[in-house]
Amino acid sequence: MVERGASEPFKLKSAEADHLVEHRHDDDIVTMPLEGLHPAPHLRDMEHYQQMYKRSIAEPEQFWDDIARTGFYWKQKWDAVRSVNFSRKQGRIESSWFIGSKTNICFNALDRWVETGIEDHVAFLFEPNDLSDDKSRREWTYGQTLAEVKRVANVLKAMGVKKGDCVTLYMPMVVELPVCMLACARIGAVHSVVFGGFSAEALAGRILDAESKVVITCDGVMRGKKPILLKQIADKACEIAQKRGFAVASQLVLHRLEEDKSTCEMRGGRDVWYDEAVARADTECEVEWMDAEDPLFILYTSGSTGSPKGVLHTTAGYMVYTATTFKYSFDYQPRDVFFCTADCGWITGHSYVTYGPLLNAATQVVFEGVPTYPDAGRLWDIVQRYRVNQIYTAPTAIRALKAYGDSYVQAYDRSSLRVLGTVGEPINPEAWRWYFEVVGSSKCAVVDTWWQTETGGHMIVSFGVKGMKFKPGSASLPSFGVDPVLLDEQGQEIEGPGDGFLMIRQGWPSTIRTVRGDHERMEQVYFDRFDGYYLTGDGCRRDADGYYWLTGRIDDILNVSGHRIGTAEVESALVLHELVNEAAVVGFGHDIKGEGIYAFVTLNQGAKASESLQKELIALCRSEIGPIATPDRIQWVPGLPKTRSGKIMRRILRKIAEQGGSVKMEDLGDITTLADPSVVAQLIASV
Ligand code: ATP
Ligand code: MG
Repeated sequence: MVERGASEPFKLKSAEADHLVEHRHDDDIVTMPLEGLHPAPHLRDMEHYQQMYKRSIAEPEQFWDDIARTGFYWKQKWDAVRSVNFSRKQGRIESSWFIGSKTNICFNALDRWVETGIEDHVAFLFEPNDLSDDKSRREWTYGQTLAEVKRVANVLKAMGVKKGDCVTLYMPMVVELPVCMLACARIGAVHSVVFGGFSAEALAGRILDAESKVVITCDGVMRGKKPILLKQIADKACEIAQKRGFAVASQLVLHRLEEDKSTCEMRGGRDVWYDEAVARADTECEVEWMDAEDPLFILYTSGSTGSPKGVLHTTAGYMVYTATTFKYSFDYQPRDVFFCTADCGWITGHSYVTYGPLLNAATQVVFEGVPTYPDAGRLWDIVQRYRVNQIYTAPTAIRALKAYGDSYVQAYDRSSLRVLGTVGEPINPEAWRWYFEVVGSSKCAVVDTWWQTETGGHMIVSFGVKGMKFKPGSASLPSFGVDPVLLDEQGQEIEGPGDGFLMIRQGWPSTIRTVRGDHERMEQVYFDRFDGYYLTGDGCRRDADGYYWLTGRIDDILNVSGHRIGTAEVESALVLHELVNEAAVVGFGHDIKGEGIYAFVTLNQGAKASESLQKELIALCRSEIGPIATPDRIQWVPGLPKTRSGKIMRRILRKIAEQGGSVKMEDLGDITTLADPSVVAQLIASV
């Protein structure tokens, strides 16, 4: 099934580099297995994809006009499909879509289906944290979901929320979270979801930035065996905001803990129980018809590369793009069961839990817990229980589960699966293969999806289509309307195969509209360096077949003796070793090479670090990539510093690589988005 042939040169910059081969091989190809195809897929074959893609680039206005006109409800149609300017030289950066139209995304996600008579169709299958918690495990039909959304919308209105106001949601991954998002959208309020793992300080900063008078939270939640007392954190955040002169007027509090409600402190005049307020609320609530460019939500980026940015998305373009990418990337078919493991605190949860699936009348699992509780078989238990057809998760989860071994997967029936989706980081071929062979029994499509908070939806995708040739580790091909360009350092476009800055040329419907309160920052960050393009901040290589390979953040590309090496390349080589669980690579100042390679490595359960293992790892990098990729230093670590969305914060590792054990916590910049800040001290101590 997996053919591996002669490899292509990786470095293009200098002739000496010709002997280098990349271990993410261009010609390591896995053909789309026929068993994994739906009998009537949305994309018949690769030719069909090519034909649609070409049209989306050549005639974007007609292309999106057709899709928008047929797949959605519009209170009023648009006067023009789009108006886009990506050049600061030509004025204000702008991206407007379906200009002049009026619609409502909540209406399109819920009312539309209920009105066509499918109110009994299941929207959500709620899977609680505890496997034995049968009383929480329940189905939500479209009819029930709409009824709940209307009541919550009325509660918000009664709290004084008006069109354009921002509501902050600080909740666990329960169905009430997408319900509250939809309730905001229904009445034209802007939601700002803050992941339920953030600290009081981080939450306060986001409440202040958004000027949210209303906060929706929860008494607490169990994540695995750990209780997280959200309400206490929300209270503390309100206090911090108060000290900075901003008063949160109302908190709507969901009751989710086993403990009696009386154990949760409620402040009179401000705090209201969700269930009580919803029970009292009116059952009817008209939708607010929104202009196409009215704000839908703000969401802060993960903060992997710097302080988080409050990315703003608007109504119509975001709606059309997320619905379309959901349909085609995952080949979602009526009655399929979709399961995205991401929390709604991230863009993945916004676009592929709340909006994309409901806009397609999909049925999906919402999972409150974590993949390793009660054990590493949990996701596969869910797949078996609900006969999941598409699962969508992240490389960090795949690698973590792989470390526990195959038996946890094999214990469950996974025959319903057709699509294995991945997002968040480049997936290393080792993890890809495990996902494909072990989880998917070599029958499913591995759909890698490269995109960003700023892009709103999938941009580069390995579509699971008949005739598709997957290349493990490559995000593969552009999605509809996406025109990727590689630029060299001088800003020249690279034609054909090559390696450079990944830029996007034309606007697509869900382009970032602005950074909340700071349009100048958004113009500077994304449009200043190269005029006329959107700067993704990621490095990328395009191979001879036109496949895209993400090589790491621009700031993370190493320059070793004049050769550009992506951190993702070296990391993928290191994790080929059977004892290695994860690796993170950064550069550090090196007298001779300019930049040296510093690798932080975590080992599998039970494995021990040794000098001979170090030698084996070095040999692996040399054989897989070339002598130029020899790590100068390898540090064994118990864990890596990851953002709460599971991404490695390499800027911390860079500081440690540069300054060793003498690095000071205060020099590390904003680390509030780290999942476990205590890892940092351990890392410094283990230098
Ligand atoms: P910040 O912008 O604050 O540094 P962030 O970039 O981590 O945070 P996100 O928008 O959540 O915030 O992540 C987008 C980034 O994640 C992409 O720019 C890319 O680097 C990485 N990424 C996401 N999906 C993939 C993928 N399938 N393959 C490779 N990289 C990916
Ligand atoms: Mg980013």
